[in-house]
Amino acid sequence: MQPAVVQSVVVLGSTGSIGTSTLDVLARHPQRYSVFALTAGKRIAELAQQCRRYAPRFAVAATEQGAEELRQLLRGAELDTQVLCGVEGLCRVAADPEVDTVMAAIVGAAGLRPTLAAVEAGKKVLLANKESLVMAGPVFMRALNASGAQLLPIDSEHNAIFQCLPQPCGSLESVGVEKILLTASGGPFRTRVNDDLHRVTPDEACAHPNWSMGRKISVDSATMMNKGLEFIEACLLFGAGPEQIEVVVHPQSIVHSMVQYRDGSVLAQLGNPDMRTPIAHGLAFPERIDSGVAAMDLVALGRLDFEAPDMGRFPCLGLARDAMSAGGSAPTSLNAANEVAVEAFLRGQLAFTGIPAVIERVLERAEAVELTGLDAVETADCRARELALEVLGAV
Ligand code: NDP
Repeated sequence: MQPAVVQSVVVLGSTGSIGTSTLDVLARHPQRYSVFALTAGKRIAELAQQCRRYAPRFAVAATEQGAEELRQLLRGAELDTQVLCGVEGLCRVAADPEVDTVMAAIVGAAGLRPTLAAVEAGKKVLLANKESLVMAGPVFMRALNASGAQLLPIDSEHNAIFQCLPQPCGSLESVGVEKILLTASGGPFRTRVNDDLHRVTPDEACAHPNWSMGRKISVDSATMMNKGLEFIEACLLFGAGPEQIEVVVHPQSIVHSMVQYRDGSVLAQLGNPDMRTPIAHGLAFPERIDSGVAAMDLVALGRLDFEAPDMGRFPCLGLARDAMSAGGSAPTSLNAANEVAVEAFLRGQLAFTGIPAVIERVLERAEAVELTGLDAVETADCRARELALEVLGAV
């Protein structure tokens, strides 16, 4: 059956792992979706290729230099694609009145302003960029409530939780939820002995056993900060208290998370570890469309294992939990310090075990303030980055 209206979609971060998976799903349903804008940071040649294939109305590069390079690459391509640049360009396309849906898949704090622009403009926002929600928690949620935008979680865990809750969902209490069981793969170093962790390389940290992802989130998975950020994300998205969320390590990444109800029922969402499932779910919700993901074969899988997380070997999870409990700008500082530390690790300037150490020192020194608005968020983010660089300088 043909949908009545074609949805116009912006893919923020289209050259990344989530961005390319999103384009793959969109390409399977040309009768449902049209690509309005594509955006990139550094991979301009890839963006040019995507423009040739999807003919978007706009393409946005992070810098003016990138935009100029893109214009050169598209010369003679007979496209009507207008090339913009910078945060202004990203916010402009995310809030365009012709746009229905925005996939927020820029990595890190760079995604905050465009994601917020989409939220403030009342779009259907598919949230992969968890950092924007974590760093701006109350500001983000106030903007969401004020605009009436629809926020659909793309992180596989939160998408699973969303699927296991009745929709629309009131408070967790009102629908009988006792607990959210947030699953974690445990990352590539789940079974690695402690003494070895300080010498793991960026390539080892990025070799996730189940998921193929960008480098920043891969390192976050290896330190388990990814689960820490997701813990905060779950508190904000589902109105859960920190005590209502339990992290369970599940190495196969087949059960994407669970919801435990008052009557003892536990609902889970299962599927192969492929981000096209939550992406397709978010795009089509409340309908279901083909995502291209292979059917799951439970017999071939044979077993599903669960264990408690090792909070001693992976201190990032505890740091995130404490930051959420502290509230105010503590999650903003946590996120900023993590971004600086992960970048230093990826450049070979910090040991893997130095990542939680840097974050802990920043959280000790950063003043926790109330997040009254975007300015307060950006001030706290900047201050935590300065502190993280100071700490790094002293390592
Ligand atoms: P990638 O690194 O693969 O992609 C990131 C995207 O953001 C790229 O398009 C990149 O452009 C763009 N980008 C980076 N910096 C900037 C900037 N300063 N300005 C504008 N654009 C920028 O990351 P992932 O796709 O893996 O992750 C994206 C988000 O989704 C993250 O927040 C991550 O936590 C979340 N997520 C990812 C999952 C996954 O499976 N990958 C799963 C769940 C959540 P370019 O490459 O051209 O430089």
